[in-house]
Amino acid sequence: MSKGKVYLVGAGPGDETLITLRAIQVLKLSECVIYDGLANESLLNYAPPEVEKISVRKRTGPRPWTQPEIDTLLLEKAKEGKIVVRLKGGDPGLFGRAPEEAALCTQEGIPFEIVPGITAGLAAAAYSGIFLTDRDHASQVVFVTGREAATKSEEVLDYRFLSGFDGTIVLYMAMGNLDKITSQLIEGGKNPATPVAIVQNATTTKQRLLKSQLDRVAKECQEKGLGAPSIVIIGPTAVGNDQYNWFMNRPLFGKRILITRDPVGNDVFAAMLAAVGAVPIRFDAIRIIDQSESLESKEAILHLSEYDWVIFTSANGVRHAFKALHSTGKDARAFGTAKVACIGKQTADILEPFGIRADFVPTKYTSEIMAKELAETESLTGKCILLLRSGIAPKDLVEAFTSAGAKVDDIAVYTVKPNTEKNEAILEQIKAGEIDWVTFTSSSTVRSFFDQIPIQLARSTGVKIGSIGPVATQQVKDLGLEPTVEADVHTVDGLLAAIEKYEENHKESAV
Ligand code: SAH
Repeated sequence: MSKGKVYLVGAGPGDETLITLRAIQVLKLSECVIYDGLANESLLNYAPPEVEKISVRKRTGPRPWTQPEIDTLLLEKAKEGKIVVRLKGGDPGLFGRAPEEAALCTQEGIPFEIVPGITAGLAAAAYSGIFLTDRDHASQVVFVTGREAATKSEEVLDYRFLSGFDGTIVLYMAMGNLDKITSQLIEGGKNPATPVAIVQNATTTKQRLLKSQLDRVAKECQEKGLGAPSIVIIGPTAVGNDQYNWFMNRPLFGKRILITRDPVGNDVFAAMLAAVGAVPIRFDAIRIIDQSESLESKEAILHLSEYDWVIFTSANGVRHAFKALHSTGKDARAFGTAKVACIGKQTADILEPFGIRADFVPTKYTSEIMAKELAETESLTGKCILLLRSGIAPKDLVEAFTSAGAKVDDIAVYTVKPNTEKNEAILEQIKAGEIDWVTFTSSSTVRSFFDQIPIQLARSTGVKIGSIGPVATQQVKDLGLEPTVEADVHTVDGLLAAIEKYEENHKESAV
């Protein structure tokens, strides 16, 4: 039987983007992935879907794995002729069991490669405004483990030898022994006021940072509940600089924000939130139902050029209208001389790649302002207006245009249905107070959300509510709740800005 190959691969410290290109390459080639608890599970998505993925989390889980068991598994899979990726947190060679695994492969004649990774110590510093070396204060740095193999004698755990080290000490796996380690360093002569930084869950949205000093850090960690996995940085550089803490200073760092759009809209919003440090929690409150194939839609699309104005009120309206247009074999030229208006710049931005630049975007993104301002640019008397939008859109826009003297065709190119699948997990998170914000980008998402989540619960947990604009706000108010913020500009960007502004004014410390 052909022998497989083993890759000992560093997964990086937590943030899924801190993985190397080489690691991604080998994950793509893999036929079996054996991964540790500290490796970010989202990295498994780089492996082909059918590949066997085995967690060998050491501490938790139904059955803790021992290293001999992991070794046996590794050999077994490699001997089946598989390309095995052994995915480990940080760098595989640093305080991991890579040396044993490499020895095993050598003994058994199984080829292996090592793919280095960004180790937690380096990442913890970079993500908390600390530079481990410094021309003035630290020209050397050591990586030290705070826990030793059970087979070694007690003396190895004596940290007094490090007291005279005049640089930065970076400790791994030290939280269980922190009291002992710091006491020994002081006993050995290290200044009790030496700065210490603790970075827990570095590079993840749960990162915590504690700045302290040698003689009281162990006590403070206990008081504040800091534990593993943490990196302990000792030395003058540990003071860091809060202004350089770009990661935790991002506007919505660690905020858990529930998003309630349709699945595609939630993808977009989730990416925007993650970019400013928030944790997006998806609740696909509504589903978009395509109606581009309906007779009504097709008929309207066939006569596009006969209208004076074609109006889009959402990105979904644009996408579905063009779906209808393309299915008839036509393109943007079918608009002829019809002018095009969009409620909102985002809608106009979605339209542009389809080959049409909006002739008109109102200053405020509401139906009322849209009708008023459009009527100000030209008389609408006798004009033919086509609305290509959602089947559940309120009729006020039609009424406003009609009273301005226009003839309006209101065509549903899609419609919105509430998603009635129960979402117990979200309910539990709200109950546990684990959600900071619930956001609404339309009145239908408000209705759909509160069909599933009791209003009383939202009220009692005090979860903050962000609304995109007056229509969604009114719906929230009708249910007896009050939005914490309403966006000034009625777009998802505007909503994000409103939440950021609120949080900026209500900042608390991250520990
Ligand atoms: N090979 C890994 C280290 C494994 S030892 C690496 O190179 O990073 C496990 C220890 O690493 C933990 O006890 C903790 O001290 C540290 N660690 C790993 N990931 C961490 C993280 N995201 N934040 C803080 N410490 C982390």
